[in-house]
Amino acid sequence: MPELPEVETIRRDLEHKIVGKTLCNLEVKERVHLLKNCSASELKKTMIGQRLMAMKRRGKYLLFCFEKSVLVLHLRMSGRLLLEPAKHTRLVLEFSKNKTIYFDDARRFGALYLSSQKELEDLPTLQKLGIEPFSKDYSLKNFRFKLNSKQEVKRWLLDQSKITGVGNIYACEALFEARINPERVANLLSTPESKRLFEAVLEILKRAIESKGTSIDSYRMPSGELGNFQKNFSVYDRLKEPCHRCQTPISRISQAGRSTYFCPNCQS
Ligand SMILES: [Zn+2]
Repeated sequence: MPELPEVETIRRDLEHKIVGKTLCNLEVKERVHLLKNCSASELKKTMIGQRLMAMKRRGKYLLFCFEKSVLVLHLRMSGRLLLEPAKHTRLVLEFSKNKTIYFDDARRFGALYLSSQKELEDLPTLQKLGIEPFSKDYSLKNFRFKLNSKQEVKRWLLDQSKITGVGNIYACEALFEARINPERVANLLSTPESKRLFEAVLEILKRAIESKGTSIDSYRMPSGELGNFQKNFSVYDRLKEPCHRCQTPISRISQAGRSTYFCPNCQS
């Protein structure tokens, strides 16, 4: 599933291609799963003719900010924004100067919300989100406040109401970076451990953005380019391979139905 680095990479790619252009046409090819708070005709009527002012991101959500309205898109499992039609096109956005964006989504978990600029902050799906990494709210003090939870720290990292944007891959990598066992309870981390985790989350996300994300499933940039962070994995998807730090074979456990990879020696 695309996490913060992938969504941020897509945002940057689209920013160059479509900001400043006007939406000339919009075609909904699959409305039942995709449209969460509006009908296809309402979406069309509201959006056509509006100019795209900015591409923003909140957690794993992409925000297409038009003059009066905002389209809020979550890619979920398999959603992709492409410059050419693919097999599972669900939405087509035609901009001026012949720029067309295709939303392709094989598994149909993608979600689209329509909001006015004014009411964006009130959109329930965004209201639930926690601290945004790279924002001024991401401080050690706020991080420690959120850590006051009885969740296992790996589950805590996946909880979007705590820190937003981190998914399974980057949670595993950040815990390795911080040398913390994934089954530790969040509110029992020591002061140095919580500081290490606070720094590791940002560091891992930063490195992943520099690598343009991780392409191990369907993820690619709108331009078709693949991400490279999978070449830098320390633990994720490395079961039984030697730890880069201590040569101990990497272990895997299941937490909340997701695979957690870790080094049983470095993260004991
Ligand atoms: Zn190790």
